[in-house]
Amino acid sequence: MDIVHPFTKTILSTSENFILVLDETGKILNKNNAWNNSKHASEYTLLMTENSSFTDLLESTHNYEQLDSIQQVLRGEIDEFRKEFTCLIEKNDYHYLFHTYKLKLSSDRIGAIIIYSVYKKHVIANSETTSILESMTDAFFSLDKHWNITYINEYGKTLLSKVHPSFNYSNSESPSLIDTEFYPFLQQVMLENKTQQQEIYIPSIPTWFEVKAYPRAEGGLSVFFHHIAERKSIEKDLRSFAYYDFLTNLPNRRMTYDILQHKIKNDEPFSFFYIELNGFKLVNDMYGHARGDAILVDIATFFNQTIKIDKVVARVGGDEFVIFTDEVNNEQLSIIANKLIQDFQQISESISVPSIPLSLSIGISRYPEDAPDTDLLFRYANIAMYASKKRNRNNFSFFERTMIEELERKVNIENELHGDLKETTIHFVVQPQFNSKTNEVIGIEVLTRWIHPEYGYITPPEFIEIADNSGRIEELTKYLISEVFSKVSRWIQDYGFDKPIAINITPKLLGNRKFFNDLIHFIQYYRIPPQMVDIEITENANLDTDQNILDNIAFCRKHGIRLSLDDFGTGYSKLADLVDFQIDKLKIDKYFVDKIGKETNAELILHTFMNLAKGLKCDVLAEGVETKEQVDYLNSLGLTYFQGYYFSKPISLDEFELNYLQKKL
Ligand code: C2E
Ligand code: CA
Ligand code: CA
Repeated sequence: MDIVHPFTKTILSTSENFILVLDETGKILNKNNAWNNSKHASEYTLLMTENSSFTDLLESTHNYEQLDSIQQVLRGEIDEFRKEFTCLIEKNDYHYLFHTYKLKLSSDRIGAIIIYSVYKKHVIANSETTSILESMTDAFFSLDKHWNITYINEYGKTLLSKVHPSFNYSNSESPSLIDTEFYPFLQQVMLENKTQQQEIYIPSIPTWFEVKAYPRAEGGLSVFFHHIAERKSIEKDLRSFAYYDFLTNLPNRRMTYDILQHKIKNDEPFSFFYIELNGFKLVNDMYGHARGDAILVDIATFFNQTIKIDKVVARVGGDEFVIFTDEVNNEQLSIIANKLIQDFQQISESISVPSIPLSLSIGISRYPEDAPDTDLLFRYANIAMYASKKRNRNNFSFFERTMIEELERKVNIENELHGDLKETTIHFVVQPQFNSKTNEVIGIEVLTRWIHPEYGYITPPEFIEIADNSGRIEELTKYLISEVFSKVSRWIQDYGFDKPIAINITPKLLGNRKFFNDLIHFIQYYRIPPQMVDIEITENANLDTDQNILDNIAFCRKHGIRLSLDDFGTGYSKLADLVDFQIDKLKIDKYFVDKIGKETNAELILHTFMNLAKGLKCDVLAEGVETKEQVDYLNSLGLTYFQGYYFSKPISLDEFELNYLQKKL
């Protein structure tokens, strides 16, 4: 895909300097015409086709200094690097300035611009070279050690007469460099007696000059100079691409900020749509970035074409876009948002890949109604976007104050999870699992409960998600394990209890080896037979791609820990994964159980699950069973393991002990 902005290309093609645009890996995204037209075209430049690696080329030609500097730029360690180099072409020394600096390709991609400005052959002035000096396109003059100009070529006269009126050679006075902007630099070169180069700005013209001065053996200087207005303006223009997203050509986050800031300064009301593309990350992960990039370009076009009112569309993140418009009427904004969502639904299938649906979540904030500044408007639209996402995909929400309260609740919950868990009201319950034929308990699942002093009952999915995202799920699960195992170890001694204890493990925790090492320590410490530990994992874990997860599952199997697949039928699992992992138990999700007697389709699926389990030689358990009808139907399919309110709600550990262990005695 061509990610170089058309405007950049125009600049590239008209510059006489040799310019390259590299991507983050050092690959050439673009080179300008100068390379093709060069008299100096060598094997080297012929190797430089677009898409070839320039850094590899530098390495193979031992240009390590240039290579290092480019790599430092690409790693973000330096912003730019420039240095003069010499190369030998047809027995002549050529001097050139190598200049590389950082270029933002998109919000999360850094590339590099490389500019080679080639000077003419390096000539030390003496009488024999006069003709050469006159034919040069560089301006040139030489100075003796008393600052007298001993020679100046025609072009030098022309340029210097622009720099300072005293160089107007029509009057007879001897011109003096002392009054010019060149003087401090030349004085420094004289003093240090070392070849140097500098860009010097002459405000009266106004123009930039590149000036190079060589100290002469007999004292004095040889000075070459030319104006570089053109290159300066190229650099400035290239930098302005920091304002555009290279991929979609849309304004980027920085430009968005600037425009909004401007509107706010002028007190112009506007509305701000923050849009996230759901499903995009999955496309990127599964089909690669090239496919993802193509989709983003299509979506940029879609946004621009769909809304006909005055608006600006920008891309502010990987899969995040914003649209802002002067429209502030809520009804009109709802119409716009609805149209976006509906039109997108129609085209989403044609731009996405098969089986991964894309959808939009939109949050809207308004100036000045919701917030007085850009940062807050961004944040609030973002908060509203998350609210849409939570409701369901393909949705939009206006920002509301209550959303901040929800956010505060989230932050408070997170803070409490980060404190001492023993000081919270978090506790644990168990839900027994039954064999319907014998009415025996075949295992228990541990579930976490949190009845909060301020918020009341917080659902497990809410606080588990917060714990998971804030890195506290490991502590929370270990707290559960130590609390439950200490009870269970007594049950083993007192009642000979030997049934599996199921513990829910989030996909993130499943990739955490330290947790599993600790789990083994708990098992040893509380003397729990490993086969009594049943790890419940969901299909949403990246079972086939995340090596840590694969390793941890193998680690559990090696230690004899049991493995159950939770919420079966609702995730993405591939049959191959199930075979590879030798799952002990499939837990059919409540979703399918609920459809018994209502949808024949679901019943057909349940049939398939049973056959699948038979093939995998694993147990099957139905979750969330609430009625006799469900039990009877599942029995008729040969399913006898159950967990659900019909048999028992989740109960406290003491209640379990009382009802199922003591009474058995
Ligand atoms: P899950 O693992 O699928 O757990 C089963 C959920 O279904 C539990 O909800 C349980 O109370 C509920 N349930 C069981 N039988 C019935 C029934 O017949 N009818 C209905 N309506 N519901 C039934 P709970 O405790 O609210 O937990 C919800 C989810 O939160 C769990 O789903 C699990 O994914 C997660 N969760 C709960 N505790 C933990 C934990 O300690 N760690 C982790 N990682 N996740 C947990
Ligand atoms: Ca579970
Ligand atoms: Ca479940």
